[in-house]
Amino acid sequence: MALAQFHIYTPQDFQKYLMNTDFSREITFIQNHHTWEPNYGSMSAAHGEMYWLESMRNYHIHDNGWSDIGQNITTFPSGNIGLCRPINITPAGIFGANTGAICIENLGNFDAGHDQMTQAHKDAILFLNAALCIKFNLKPVKEQVVYHHWFDRKGKRFPESKVNDNQVGDEQKTCPGTAFFGTNTIASAEANFFPLVNSRIRQITASGTPAATSLKVNADVLNVRSGPGRSFPTVRTITQGTLVTVFTSGNGWSKISNTAEEWVFSIYIS
Ligand SMILES: [Zn+2]
Repeated sequence: MALAQFHIYTPQDFQKYLMNTDFSREITFIQNHHTWEPNYGSMSAAHGEMYWLESMRNYHIHDNGWSDIGQNITTFPSGNIGLCRPINITPAGIFGANTGAICIENLGNFDAGHDQMTQAHKDAILFLNAALCIKFNLKPVKEQVVYHHWFDRKGKRFPESKVNDNQVGDEQKTCPGTAFFGTNTIASAEANFFPLVNSRIRQITASGTPAATSLKVNADVLNVRSGPGRSFPTVRTITQGTLVTVFTSGNGWSKISNTAEEWVFSIYIS
């Protein structure tokens, strides 16, 4: 079989790809991992994101003996999203628990005391989990959005109490990291990660179209304001030709951030 064709997307372009593509494999859950290596230190070296996808593929084929890169999707510190093993092909993510899964590898070492996840990376991970939930009709609940940490080396789930108390011992991987959106327990996912994914699902759904729209600034200099109106202060300016993503719009104003109050006059983007 031909090896995966890698493609690196911005979140909004990934969303367009996802929403406009039909998949034949039945998806029943999403796995979240961290790569541990490469990590943020490696990424600051001279190589681009594509280099690291190839590097992981080489490792997975030559050291792990797999047919291709293990994960379906990689997220990067920049906020970009890399499509890896095709979504229609079962990943190699959690040994013994890959059927029906989409495997996300979040590039970094998110064990406490190691990489400090960038805001762009957080946004991309939340966005990606939310978009996959919408696409495959899943919910951010412990059965459907999972951490590697919750499974033993044969792919069986540990008892929940043991996951939460971290009583499982050496058998248990820390993946996706002891500092992943809080920590890596089920209790932490339910308190921290799942509510954030849920709010992204609501944002994407509320924006009307499943795909966020990308538009170009057509004014020389455009004021970005902290609310939908001229009375709101200008927080920054953007110049002609800049691409912006519109998350919601109304009354002539468009919101161009999904994390901050950043609004522009809609007439100046097209
Ligand atoms: Zn893992």
